[in-house]
Amino acid sequence: MTIAEKPMTGDSTDIRVRLGVSPLINLTGTLTTMGGISARTEAIEAAAAMMGHGIDMVELQAAASKIIADATGAEAGFVSACSAAGICMAVAGAMTGDDMAAIEQLPDTSGMKNEVLIQTGHLVNYGHPIEQDIRLTGARAVSFGAVNSATQAQLAGAIGPRTAAALYVVSHHCAPDGQIPFADFTRVCHAQDVPVIVDLAAEYDITGYHRDGADITIHSAHKFLGGATAGVVSGKKSQVRAAFLQNYGLARPMKVGKESIAAALAALQAYVSDDRAEVNAKLRKPLQAWREAVADLSGVQGDFDADPTGNPFERLRITITPEAGFAAVDLVHALETGTPSIRVRTHQLEHGSFIMDPRSLGAGEEGVVAERLRAAIQGLQGAKATGAADQVQSWKIRRANALRNWPDPLAEDAT
Ligand SMILES: *Cc1c(COP(=O)(O)O)cnc(C)c1O
Repeated sequence: MTIAEKPMTGDSTDIRVRLGVSPLINLTGTLTTMGGISARTEAIEAAAAMMGHGIDMVELQAAASKIIADATGAEAGFVSACSAAGICMAVAGAMTGDDMAAIEQLPDTSGMKNEVLIQTGHLVNYGHPIEQDIRLTGARAVSFGAVNSATQAQLAGAIGPRTAAALYVVSHHCAPDGQIPFADFTRVCHAQDVPVIVDLAAEYDITGYHRDGADITIHSAHKFLGGATAGVVSGKKSQVRAAFLQNYGLARPMKVGKESIAAALAALQAYVSDDRAEVNAKLRKPLQAWREAVADLSGVQGDFDADPTGNPFERLRITITPEAGFAAVDLVHALETGTPSIRVRTHQLEHGSFIMDPRSLGAGEEGVVAERLRAAIQGLQGAKATGAADQVQSWKIRRANALRNWPDPLAEDAT
């Protein structure tokens, strides 16, 4: 298929165009601000197949439990609206068990254990502060340790008569150093009968944490799995059940649809049978093309970047050095304001680099990105560089202002 035939060019077959929104090329990979991953065909077909039918949701979730258990090695599972919902439900379940009166009582936690332990270095913001997932249920987040240092002794000391659960986060957002390894964390918690909830939203490992003693784990269906927006919750049966029962309590405003459940299960089954080496070879091809596209440009460096939490694929890091004559944020701005908009991962923009993730790349987009990247750099070369740190701040402030102005565009953008 040629690029001209692709929906991304903005013809009327592209639903984005029909809705009046701009098509974009998503090189953030799976960021939910870009709608999560571009779903795999199996998930799209399953969602479409489910939408026109009636179904008993309890029965559907029981079927989901079997499929999730098979894929993850856990005893049971269900599909939630998203990982954030799954975290809330797991925390709530740790407080209520299967007591329906307690489930309806939340977020009033009177009479329940209501503290959730978390290492300070795990208090991440993945779009909102994770601590809010805990507080939403009525529980209190009790953090221990410093950002760069948490110990087993501190964890043991933080456990008390009100401790309902501990939350462990695996993410590139977490502080990189000084955190308690999972096995040690779980051993200390279990010695005092504290269940361990593991946020693995973006992590490819769907079996290992169960083997290592997790009570309940949460993965996003719309990230690496390639499903529609949903969360995959799995773990020990009694705790999964307690989390699931929150559907009749505080999780009612977090309802997952039958179509998302069908898509998540199809994605999970397809993911399990993926040939990882083959998938990775495919993902590496565009990275190589983009790296070659900038190889001869001065001040621009392209490097294959291993995933920070060890997920089994690479991204391309573009670093802009002083010889370039412009800053990384200038290039990010040029890519995102061009047509179609190209969005990249900007977590390390302050340090003069950004990252291109190939996982949501559409057919025909590899070449467009290579051309645009090269053209944008050539356009910027010779432009006067200002203080990159300031520019990154104003770029962020501009985004924040645009958000606060929603649904209206910023005055300067309303042309
Ligand atoms: C993305 C993410 C979440 C939230 O996942 P959703 O399924 O979008 O709610 C939670 N925790 C971490 C570490 C994440 O990266």
